[in-house]
Amino acid sequence: MVDRRLRSAEILAVGSELLTPFRTDTNSLFLTARLNELGIDVCGKAIVADDPAALQSALRGALDRADVVLTTGGLGPTDDDLTREAIAAVVGVASVEDGTVLAAIAARFASRGMRMPAINGRQAQIPSGATVLPNPRGTAPGLWMPVSDRVIVALPGPPRELEPMFDAEVVPRLQARGSRGVLRRRVLKIAGRGESHVDELAQPVYGPWRDADVPITTTILASSGQVELHLAAQGQDSVTLDRVLAAAVEDMQMALGPIVFSVDGLSLEEVVGQRLRERGLMLAAAESCTGGLLMGALTDVAGSSDWTAGGVVAYSNAVKEQSLGVPGDLIATNGAVSEPVALAMAEGVRLRLGADIGVGITGIAGPGGGTKLKPVGTVVFAVVGPGESRVVRTVRFPGDRAMVRRMAVHTALDLVRRALSDQT
Ligand code: AMP
Ligand code: MG
Repeated sequence: MVDRRLRSAEILAVGSELLTPFRTDTNSLFLTARLNELGIDVCGKAIVADDPAALQSALRGALDRADVVLTTGGLGPTDDDLTREAIAAVVGVASVEDGTVLAAIAARFASRGMRMPAINGRQAQIPSGATVLPNPRGTAPGLWMPVSDRVIVALPGPPRELEPMFDAEVVPRLQARGSRGVLRRRVLKIAGRGESHVDELAQPVYGPWRDADVPITTTILASSGQVELHLAAQGQDSVTLDRVLAAAVEDMQMALGPIVFSVDGLSLEEVVGQRLRERGLMLAAAESCTGGLLMGALTDVAGSSDWTAGGVVAYSNAVKEQSLGVPGDLIATNGAVSEPVALAMAEGVRLRLGADIGVGITGIAGPGGGTKLKPVGTVVFAVVGPGESRVVRTVRFPGDRAMVRRMAVHTALDLVRRALSDQT
């Protein structure tokens, strides 16, 4: 009976602070990703206040529905940390002081030259029948509590304590009780096409996968200018699954072509950095409507000083003229948001910063400033280099100011990526 396979899970994020606008439950996202990899479906999750009745009722309900109930938080030493007591109450067992746990907590304080406050003794009160999961990063131990053929797993709230504990202590225990083996996933990232266009191109490829020997399920996700295609396969043997997924990724890449920028989890800025590094090139950018967001994205990547020269935030016309050498009459004739000006910005920043590739971005992020000819959302991009290569694009983005600026950064990065692979 104790050997029943664990297939479904529910997560209870415990903490009244998570029911305010100031704190977000992120532990359940981490846990869901890990559980899915183990072939365990998450069939529900909830946020529960630090309240004994609420906690016990949530635990009872979750145990009714799921094979594994995971709690996060509420294992601290203070009066509002109630998870241990609630588990003991729901399972109907007493708690007993665990001498080893108490000694470990005391030793943790002693190693910092501190006396253990008496209230930390609460953390050594272990419900009978539970296995203690050690916590090398904190005082709160976790619990593995079998309840007939199911199990409650209690984990500490702080992600830096929960994550290593889950990987070291919970994954092996769940693996030993899993039945559907592992789930493997690959992610293709796509730029420059909307969700429905990508789906149209991808559908003929992934249609037959559902009925294959090793079925592959696909999920399509879109967010500000980027589309992700998730391919997942479940089975007993991860080597086979990885082989099947690799072949599928290759088929999909063939069908979609150069709009696929990543098949290994890299972000667009990381891919751009990689290409610049491979070719030993430096990039500079002149940003008007994105105000430095492109530079921000590029310099988020570790090691970006090897391929980023720098940038100029050229918001006013005066700065465009003085810092980038854009001719004043070019702006007067064409307007600041125009292809000749974007090109001159890119040329100017490349020359003045001594880079190999120059990027110019000028546009109308809104909400004001639009005209009939150049409505809000109009953004002009220029990429000059490497060498004599010149690319200029005018794009109209939907959405509010923040979205226009985000999509502009994404589009600029993709234009650089394409310029670097000679695909325009
Ligand atoms: P607790 O174990 O309930 O005392 O939680 C300690 C701390 O862990 C909280 O103050 C939060 O900073 C963090 N924490 C608790 N629950 C979560 C959660 N579900 N997601 C992310 N952080 C959490
Ligand atoms: Mg708490």
